[in-house]
Amino acid sequence: METRTVDLGPCHCPGTPHERDEAVIVLPVSMTYGAQRRVQSAYALEVEDERAGRDRFGGLADATLMAVCTFSWTCLNPDGKPLAIGVREPNATNAIDALDPLTAMALHDEFFPRDAAGTATDKNGYFLRAITGVVLPNPSSAPSVAGLPATPSTGSTPSPKASTSKRRAKS
Ligand SMILES: [Zn+2]
Repeated sequence: METRTVDLGPCHCPGTPHERDEAVIVLPVSMTYGAQRRVQSAYALEVEDERAGRDRFGGLADATLMAVCTFSWTCLNPDGKPLAIGVREPNATNAIDALDPLTAMALHDEFFPRDAAGTATDKNGYFLRAITGVVLPNPSSAPSVAGLPATPSTGSTPSPKASTSKRRAKS
């Protein structure tokens, strides 16, 4: 499985036990069928709802994708236990909902990057992969080895202490 470790900014866990929070996210090429299915279902709900003139599921597909394509993270629940996350967790989307907004946005930006104008680019192809199964070619054209960051330019430093604010510097 190809993964990337991403910085989620200063720790917002109860009691602030970490300096920063981080997540290990699954790259699109390693997305599972279960992840695809769940994102497709969430997206279908959103589209149906929008066609009916409602907005009960705003952002559900994004949140579902973040939940099923995060392999692990440092985020804790109010009891100080790890928030259950990942495709094996039936209620993983609830863990996304339980995040504080800044941590959630940091994770969202990793899955759905935006360009300088603030327009969503999905240049990593997560959503495309989830909806269609198509994998975008590696944008850096660097060989991506399992467990190693495929794109050195992205905020992929595994250390929770490193990279204070340079995560948003590029793109
Ligand atoms: Zn934390």
